[in-house]
Amino acid sequence: MTLQEIGASLAGSQGEADTPAKQHLMQIRDLDIHFRSDDGGLARVVDGATLTVGRNEIVGIAGESGSGKTTLVEAILQIVRFPNRETHGQVLFSTRAGKQVDLMQASDREMQRLRLDEISYIPQGSMNSLNPVVRVGDQIVDGMVAHGTNARQAKRRVTELLDRVGLEPKVARLYPHELSGGMKQRVIIAIAISMEPSLIIADEPTTALDVNVQRRIIEMLARLRDEMKVSIVMVSHDMAVHAQLVDRVAIMYAGQIIETGAVRPIVRTPMHPYTFGLMAAIPSIDKPRTRLDGIRGSTPSPRNWPAGCRFHNRCPNAMPICTSVPPLLAPVTPGVRQTVSGEIEVHSGREVACHLYEESTPDDARVGEGAR
Ligand code: SF4
Repeated sequence: MTLQEIGASLAGSQGEADTPAKQHLMQIRDLDIHFRSDDGGLARVVDGATLTVGRNEIVGIAGESGSGKTTLVEAILQIVRFPNRETHGQVLFSTRAGKQVDLMQASDREMQRLRLDEISYIPQGSMNSLNPVVRVGDQIVDGMVAHGTNARQAKRRVTELLDRVGLEPKVARLYPHELSGGMKQRVIIAIAISMEPSLIIADEPTTALDVNVQRRIIEMLARLRDEMKVSIVMVSHDMAVHAQLVDRVAIMYAGQIIETGAVRPIVRTPMHPYTFGLMAAIPSIDKPRTRLDGIRGSTPSPRNWPAGCRFHNRCPNAMPICTSVPPLLAPVTPGVRQTVSGEIEVHSGREVACHLYEESTPDDARVGEGAR
């Protein structure tokens, strides 16, 4: 997708200001996910992630491969249970019964109930995980029966679920090899919504699909949000997918969230140099043909993140302070601001972790710093 197509996708989306505050469905608070290796080293795959998901809201998580996106969402669901995992922080989820559960402390039994019943997960490449020797309808029924639905009732719901994802009733009788990639992904989404969850976490659900099928899947997810009043966490490396679907987006780099806010201003006028680099790597059909400005270098290892700002050795705007003081993810004061995208009007709800903006520099590092 080109910048022009992204711009067209954004034309009908929310204004520059952040989306209105929504009641929180899930709050991720200062979440660390580290892995201890046999030699005593520590891979800090996710560090201090803080993010909220409102009811009926679509929140995107973007970033390069290796930025920690998938580890973050797998930890929410407690499906990465490596014995060498060390977690700190909270993931507070509001259940249908009105209880607030910290998913990091929930028992196996409680997590089993919450998964699919209240939070469903569409993992990366899941369209290839359908059982090749079981008919599609039976696979949809199996998930519901495993979560306590009566088999007869579950069978009755198959046609309705297929219809919700735009598939004909006859698809229930087919085997996965008789479906296209887009149809398989729709079946996976039918399974994901079968228990009417309040949150769907989808990890790269459109990757490996052609752009037309991708667009139809995105439209379907947007429709399901409206019809079912469900919240969605969309993980994708593709900013075009976020531009088309999400309300707010969190950009991850090297295990940390480095910029968040309403999707439109982040895509149009990024404030963090990394986000700026991501957007600059998207081709434009208006401008003369030139080499695309990618982000130089590659993501460092989680066992050895650089000191200070983890992006400093790739950042064209790096300053002396960046090599030693980690910037804080801080709300940006609204108003006209000088940014890497030029002078822009910043609205509330924008957060960034970069010393170019004084809010991100800890107080004790500002005093007599003079390095900026
Ligand atoms: Fe670049 Fe410094 Fe901002 Fe990091 S803190 S993104 S190195 S300017």
